[in-house]
Amino acid sequence: MNFTPEKKLGFGLMRLPQNSADEADIDLELVKQMTDLFLEKGFTYFDTAWMYNGFASENAVREALTSRHPRESFTLATKLHAGFIRSFEDRDRIFNAQLEKTGAGYFDYYLLHGIEAGLLPTYEKFDCFSWLLHKKAEGLVKHAGFSFHDQPELLDRILTEHPEMEFVQLQINYLDWESEWIKSRACYEVCVKHGKPVIVMEPVKGGTLAKIPESAEKLFADEDPSMSVPSWAIRFAASLPNVMMVLSGMSTLDQMKDNLSYMSDFKPLTDKEKEVCFRVADIINSQITVPCTACHYCTEGCPMNIAIPEYFSLYNEDMRENLEEKGWTINFTNYELLSEKRGKAKDCIACGQCESICPQHLKIIDYLKDVSAHYDA
Ligand code: SF4
Ligand code: SF4
Repeated sequence: MNFTPEKKLGFGLMRLPQNSADEADIDLELVKQMTDLFLEKGFTYFDTAWMYNGFASENAVREALTSRHPRESFTLATKLHAGFIRSFEDRDRIFNAQLEKTGAGYFDYYLLHGIEAGLLPTYEKFDCFSWLLHKKAEGLVKHAGFSFHDQPELLDRILTEHPEMEFVQLQINYLDWESEWIKSRACYEVCVKHGKPVIVMEPVKGGTLAKIPESAEKLFADEDPSMSVPSWAIRFAASLPNVMMVLSGMSTLDQMKDNLSYMSDFKPLTDKEKEVCFRVADIINSQITVPCTACHYCTEGCPMNIAIPEYFSLYNEDMRENLEEKGWTINFTNYELLSEKRGKAKDCIACGQCESICPQHLKIIDYLKDVSAHYDA
């Protein structure tokens, strides 16, 4: 695939700013401002999906982007997730609804969403790889690819069986680069072997790499005090030569301004700077309890409406505290406030819906028991 992006930063539309706790209640005025600034600075790539922001992200694309900017001034990516395919007809039903919701006319990039061993049989059963090529032949999709959340061996098999796929979207960040489960480096190397450019998702690991332990923050500050903590994560991913785009799920104007400041004239990290990232990863790994990326894939189908990623975030923060000494943190109050309108961790009925869709393959039910023991008690 010939791809020469002028700028390697993409606007990930999965954590858009909200007016309320309702994911679908998007602050459209702020999204419009962010969209305008992003384009004004010469960036063009937007990434959405069927279920992002409570199924409202694609509608926000129409409001903020396609209805306000010329079609040739941006590129748009969206996705089809196996969790919503029950029949051959569902593929077109969802695709046509996406065209309608976004008002895009066509999609520059279209992905089979979050392929992993559990979902691959659905994509194969409903012949989604060939279906995607038909969409390309019809001119409704310019580039066909998939996002991937599994082991490098499976990725190798898929790319061998489907050489027609033009690109792969992978979770890459300095914390997961050598991790036992995500294996960012090994997956990236499979893509290099097959000559497939990579789009990076979760470069900041759902915010985990924006708020890091003080000792880790000091390492970055000692190396270059002018650079923000999240910038290290985004620049790490963008420094990989086979990476064509790094998606950042920006939620505020300040986040966007910071990202634009160093990605406008991007300079890859030096070897020494990469080494600092790995030392920081060692510190974070020694302290993180639940490696949740806050993607929210799990929340939509939870019958008990449990605020899973929010509870994990509070719990992770508390696990970094010296609780024996402090005895209490503000997160106990935050938990009470959150759970006024949502199910508590103890309400989990262990139905397993969330675990079947979690791209990080987390033992959510077990972790919720830990959260419950911590807060509900
Ligand atoms: S296992 Fe628990 S948290 Fe997960 S979807 Fe079921 S009720 Fe919700
Ligand atoms: S638990 Fe899994 S699916 Fe849910 S937000 Fe975290 S990473 Fe995403």
